[in-house]
Amino acid sequence: MHADDLRRTFNDFFAARLHASVPSAGLIPHHPSAPMFTNSGMMPFVPYFLGEEAPPWDPPRTVSVQKCVRAGGKHNDLDAIGRSPRHLSFFEMLGNFSFGDYYKADAIPWAWELLTEALGLDGDRMWVTIHTSDDEAHEIWVDGVGFPAERIQRLGDDNFWEMGEVGPCGPSSEVFWDFGARLGPDGGPANPEAEDRFVEIWNLVFQDSYREPDGSLTDLPTKNVDTGAGLERILGVLADDHWLYAADSVSRMVDAAQSLTGRRLGDADESDVALRLLADHARTMTFLIADGVVPSNEERGYVLRRIIRRAVRFAYLLGVETPITAPLAGHVAEVMGDAYPEVRTGLDQVQGVLEREESQFRRTLRNGLGILESEMADLADDAPLSGHVAFTLHDTYGFPYEVTAEIAEDRGHPVDRATFDDDMAHQKAQSKAGGRKNKGADVDGSLSTYQSVVAENGPTEFTGREEDTTT
Ligand code: ATP
Ligand code: MG
Ligand code: MG
Ligand code: MG
Repeated sequence: MHADDLRRTFNDFFAARLHASVPSAGLIPHHPSAPMFTNSGMMPFVPYFLGEEAPPWDPPRTVSVQKCVRAGGKHNDLDAIGRSPRHLSFFEMLGNFSFGDYYKADAIPWAWELLTEALGLDGDRMWVTIHTSDDEAHEIWVDGVGFPAERIQRLGDDNFWEMGEVGPCGPSSEVFWDFGARLGPDGGPANPEAEDRFVEIWNLVFQDSYREPDGSLTDLPTKNVDTGAGLERILGVLADDHWLYAADSVSRMVDAAQSLTGRRLGDADESDVALRLLADHARTMTFLIADGVVPSNEERGYVLRRIIRRAVRFAYLLGVETPITAPLAGHVAEVMGDAYPEVRTGLDQVQGVLEREESQFRRTLRNGLGILESEMADLADDAPLSGHVAFTLHDTYGFPYEVTAEIAEDRGHPVDRATFDDDMAHQKAQSKAGGRKNKGADVDGSLSTYQSVVAENGPTEFTGREEDTTT
């Protein structure tokens, strides 16, 4: 099944059940309680859940396909990208919503009907989780749907969904797909060893509470339904592939990454990670810029900058010397432009931003290379390269450790990895203590920074990128 067909099937199923079709909102959320990016389908509807505004639909229920970015805040999947079979940093969330209208007794049977009848999926391959306290959901699954009780598991925190540190939240019931014994042990989704085997496809949240800034919970004025199903995950299930990169909207981006890098998926583990990361990050950066984010050293712009830099680094690791992000954005416009016209109409602007950011960062990468060369010139034959130098190259110049190691080892200089790791750990500890206050520092760094740092032989001044470990 194609992404287009699934979007349509989902929408039509709920439209036939009196849901108003609402187009995707932007990736920059508006509500004051919202996190950095729109991370789920419910976000545009927060004012209705909170009772701040009356929903303008009669009956008050909606269906949507919402673009989501999970690259910061409570739901941050950035570090898993390329390695996790089920996580993207940009993805589409299918959802149906009730604002004080229907509740569990409709939401659960409809989800079941859509999966098993509209999509024709085998119910015997599914598992269900519910919140430990939710006897009502249990009864509806067993007596209403006829789902076998032995494949229902009760979980605590995992079945209590929250938008962010503050905001609407509530107990949930999730549907999982069993991809089979070759991908992990038995035991259902409650077995943490089996997360590649039992993959979550749909979360039904019963939004009845609000997480206050002081951590306490209060009741929402109405009992609501907020569901979220990952479009790419369901396409993966339909293709019987536990890698959601099987979804056509993602696999076509992998094709683009292959043609731009000359590498093929399956060549080597590390280049596979790079190809998947390029396919994913291409969509994230294109959509973020099209929605008005620009690379900077603050907040959203900083996350975007990290995403772009990371894509460039991975392309560099594959030996790609020519600009890659703007051409990738062109492919995003082609693959996603029918469903999301903004990536097509905004393409010129997106590519302009990417060209500037990438050429600036490529200069930084080249500067790092110059420094590495001059360090090596001073070394005796076979002498190790200092781990402090490798760390500074990583931290100040965004220079991947692997690149440093590869070049140095080529010349007979092993890198002192232990010192590099010590510096990383030291920086992590420092930034934990100091918060993120230095994250506005010049991302590119400068030669003088480098020199003073090396003179001190200590940690660098940069403490703001502690989570950027996947260089
Ligand atoms: P997981 O436990 O697999 O990380 P989640 O519990 O964080 O998923 P929810 O917040 O419940 O996910 O989001 C609802 C649905 O959105 C999930 O059931 C899944 O289908 C999809 N989804 C969540 N995160 C991602 C992601 N990073 N990439 C693709 N789809 C996702
Ligand atoms: Mg998650
Ligand atoms: Mg989950
Ligand atoms: Mg979930």
